[in-house]
Amino acid sequence: MKQDGFDTASSIHVRTAVDLRIMETTDLHVHLHPYDYYADCPNPDLGLARLAELVDHARQQVPNCLLFDNGDFLQGTPVGDYIAYDMGLKEGDLHPVTAAMNAMRYDAITLGNHEFNYGLDFLMRSIALADFPVVSSNILRGKGGNPRADRHLVKPYQLLQRDVVDRSGQPHVITIGVLGVAPPQIMIWERQNLQGRIEARDMVEAARAWVPEMREAGADLVILLAHSGIGPIRHTENMENAIIPLAMIEGVDLILSGHAHRLFPSRAFADIPGVDIDRGTVCGKPTVMSGFFGSHLGLIDLQLTRAAGVWHVFDAKVSTRALRDAANQFAPALLEHPRVPLRSPKVRRIVARAHDAVLESIRTPIGRSETPINSFFAYLGRSAATALVAEAQRAFVARHLDGTDLADLPLVSSVSPSKAGGLGGPRNFTNIAAGPLTLRSLADLYIYPNRVAASRLTGADLWLWLERSVSAFNRLSPEVDEQYLMDASFPGYNFEIIYGLEYEVDLTAPARFAGDGSEVNPEHSRIRNLTWNGAPIDPEQPFIVCTNSFRAQGAGGFAGTGPESVALEHPAITRDILRDYVSASDPLVVDDRAPFRLQSENGVQAILRTGTGALDYLDRIAGFAPELCGVDKSGFLRVKVTF
Ligand code: MN
Ligand code: MG
Repeated sequence: MKQDGFDTASSIHVRTAVDLRIMETTDLHVHLHPYDYYADCPNPDLGLARLAELVDHARQQVPNCLLFDNGDFLQGTPVGDYIAYDMGLKEGDLHPVTAAMNAMRYDAITLGNHEFNYGLDFLMRSIALADFPVVSSNILRGKGGNPRADRHLVKPYQLLQRDVVDRSGQPHVITIGVLGVAPPQIMIWERQNLQGRIEARDMVEAARAWVPEMREAGADLVILLAHSGIGPIRHTENMENAIIPLAMIEGVDLILSGHAHRLFPSRAFADIPGVDIDRGTVCGKPTVMSGFFGSHLGLIDLQLTRAAGVWHVFDAKVSTRALRDAANQFAPALLEHPRVPLRSPKVRRIVARAHDAVLESIRTPIGRSETPINSFFAYLGRSAATALVAEAQRAFVARHLDGTDLADLPLVSSVSPSKAGGLGGPRNFTNIAAGPLTLRSLADLYIYPNRVAASRLTGADLWLWLERSVSAFNRLSPEVDEQYLMDASFPGYNFEIIYGLEYEVDLTAPARFAGDGSEVNPEHSRIRNLTWNGAPIDPEQPFIVCTNSFRAQGAGGFAGTGPESVALEHPAITRDILRDYVSASDPLVVDDRAPFRLQSENGVQAILRTGTGALDYLDRIAGFAPELCGVDKSGFLRVKVTF
């Protein structure tokens, strides 16, 4: 009986517990249909249409479910551009993302920074017909003396009253409060679109002010929809990735994170104080971040119990489900005899319509090139692929700096080949034939969704920037005749070429940097005769270097980079700038000469591993006396070059 009594107590608890599943999508970036529009081929690993199946499945497993999106849903694929620029949204039109979210019965969403890319009016029309509340507490029409006096763009928070059933089938009503925040950097990134129309407040400040009000108004549970990543522990004014300080706010129960395009929980966050990747908590609060482009569904599975009229989180399990493994996780029987209606068929129909229209658009010519554009010989200084990106970047930055006090500084443009063999394999080269160019060609040219940026650096920084880049080459000896040109352990995306300078590279000297960016031979140098405008570079001379936001912010640890040296950061993505550039230069003619020359005192020979497509263009490297040495095991063409 004693045993019984014990069991009775725990079974009472178990029988009155409410299982509540919170689901998150984030950073969808208009990935609706499972398709890679730039490569023009299906990609089953992403997209809301397949995520809808995962949601359908997850809803069969738990009786009480809520679904939220955490922002950055309006911009990011040719579908987003097509709707904003080609189709347009008139009053009363339903944006396909909103239509799909309506069909999936989202409970609430918040805004991300990319919602503002097409301007405020487009955003407001896009969400006007949403069947769910849109919340954001720190993106404002006007800032008041304190957060509670602000005028908001959308509601700062919403209380959702939901009927739930406990494990014994008893009904309850739970009031769930959802509050939204997004990085105040929106005001910097979207300056032209938003200046004078929108203001932003620090996320932590806004959340601190609203959470107590939500509690007073009757929220049993407060969920923070934070379009923000896990960053510094300490709160600083207007910080971008504020999940840790947000998690410290009293009264916040759960956090949906995003913006950083990462997964949480995951090993990447293992060593951060206050972060527990086994339990999926930040400062003890269950937290999830579900990847990007619809790659994952985030889940927080709560067990709620009620004592003295107050709901408590008794247990929480945090997980993410990848589309990639969805096939393994589906229990098909659940979908064959669904307990709650399936929404995914309707979502599929909605996204299929948008997909068909966009396919036609990406296959339409956007220009014409007289020059073949490829990256087969980028490491030898012959590459129309990098030259074209460098020039498009330079022209864009020059236009945006015009009229500012930076306009008189020397302007150079740094680019790394998007596709240059390496670990990506022998097909990983840009190869666009002369002739019509489409959006698809641009995908082959530039694979990263980077934004254009420019940094203010010194001549000394540029020198180190180049030393870091040319550390991608092996040290060559005149005595050896079977040696590889490139160090296979060095990622190709860190091989930057600075257009606008002139320099020689001496590969008989040791590399100054290791592949990870650490300076291993500070006493050595491979860069010779570095000049700008025909004269040696003064180490003190300031330069503007056009690059991408990733690099400008410090990725790869290039000399002088970091937020403090950023001179321009523009929300336009590089691929869109390329599209404009290519359309405006019809026909396009690209000079494939790079600004550097490989040199050696007594002549060296080395093997370049390139794609077999290079065979059509060997005349471009005639100066290296190329000798064909067959195709290696992995499929790379081996070309012996002499210089
Ligand atoms: Mn995003
Ligand atoms: Mg974002």
